[in-house]
Amino acid sequence: ILSNYVKTSLKESDMSLRTSKIQLKIPSGCDGAVLVKNLYLSIDPFILALMKNQELELPSFTLDSPIYGFGVSKVLDSSHPNFKTGELVWGFTGWEEYSLIKDPDQLFKVQDKDLPLSYYIGILELVVCDSAELCMPGMTAYVGFFKFCSPKKGETVYVSAASGAVGQLVGQFAKIAGCYVVGSAGSKEKWGFALMKVDLLKNKFRFDEAFNYKEEQDYNAALKRYFPDGIDIYFDNVGGKMLEAVLNNMRLNGRVVLCGMISQYNSLEQPEGIHNLINALVKRVRMEGFFTSDHYHLYPKFLEMVVPLIKEEKITYVEDIAEGIESAPGALFGLYSGRNVGKLLVVVARE
Ligand code: NDP
Repeated sequence: ILSNYVKTSLKESDMSLRTSKIQLKIPSGCDGAVLVKNLYLSIDPFILALMKNQELELPSFTLDSPIYGFGVSKVLDSSHPNFKTGELVWGFTGWEEYSLIKDPDQLFKVQDKDLPLSYYIGILELVVCDSAELCMPGMTAYVGFFKFCSPKKGETVYVSAASGAVGQLVGQFAKIAGCYVVGSAGSKEKWGFALMKVDLLKNKFRFDEAFNYKEEQDYNAALKRYFPDGIDIYFDNVGGKMLEAVLNNMRLNGRVVLCGMISQYNSLEQPEGIHNLINALVKRVRMEGFFTSDHYHLYPKFLEMVVPLIKEEKITYVEDIAEGIESAPGALFGLYSGRNVGKLLVVVARE
């Protein structure tokens, strides 16, 4: 439940857990509705914008009501002709154990049962609506990299937030395209140990090099170390100071694709960085922002490429799964401090 709109930075206490009794069938007067049991919920960066009551062309959350987002669910009861009891679906749902979806326009059936169910709110997710930034990690990586970066074999690519839902795929796509790829990530503190996400970048996702940006005093020097001849493509997930350092290190005619600015979403201060754009000018750099939601038509082409790659294990997709609906507030909080490793989601029930 959203207890209050976030004014400055997110706190777990901005959300609360509530238990109420419901009937597990569609109430009268709800023709066309679907009652679902939620299995997986996706924890995405855009949730904070709706908690801040910001305009996203998606309706903001309502105070004292459940937060909503993407999920994978099982139909328990349906008064809609397209859905039957027992079917598995994915799309918009509430952060609840059970949700009554009054307008199931945004529910889709799980088609390929050979793939993990959770992939439908991760690598395979597609949500069709007129909104601005929605999280479709697989499509975002595909559209952002292949359409906006125009990669060529042998080019140098840098990816920030590289171990996350989007970044891990960008790195793997860049390797498939024959590029030299470097990623940056932080570390995750768990059970008193620091799990180095950077190790995952090299060992699991086959990045050529990786570094922990939290251990670097000087981003400019770090980038020079990994890209002595400069960067052709920067896939930016974080914005801020890192973007400014990257612009110093771009090659002539390089491309910077602005995918997200997570370093700025939960910050109280004015973002640092980009005091000086002369490097973009001198190096004739093309900088372009994109919203995946403008490129839905590429989804069939994306599936054609990505599903065989998953099945042949030529790409991997790492997920970070928190257990139980009660873990959702903490999981969301951790997203803005890098506590997740891979695509963050909550398992509410396994069947
Ligand atoms: P991730 O799974 O990558 O999770 C966010 C990660 O960002 C954290 O794990 C953390 O990893 C990193 N991070 C958090 N805070 C900061 C900070 N202050 N400075 C630097 N890094 C930070 O999320 P997604 O893959 O879902 O999203 C990645 C980006 O893509 C986001 O900016 C999101 O808004 C954007 N996006 C854009 C879309 C579009 O259509 N343009 C669609 C979908 C997503 P670590 O610190 O370890 O690197």
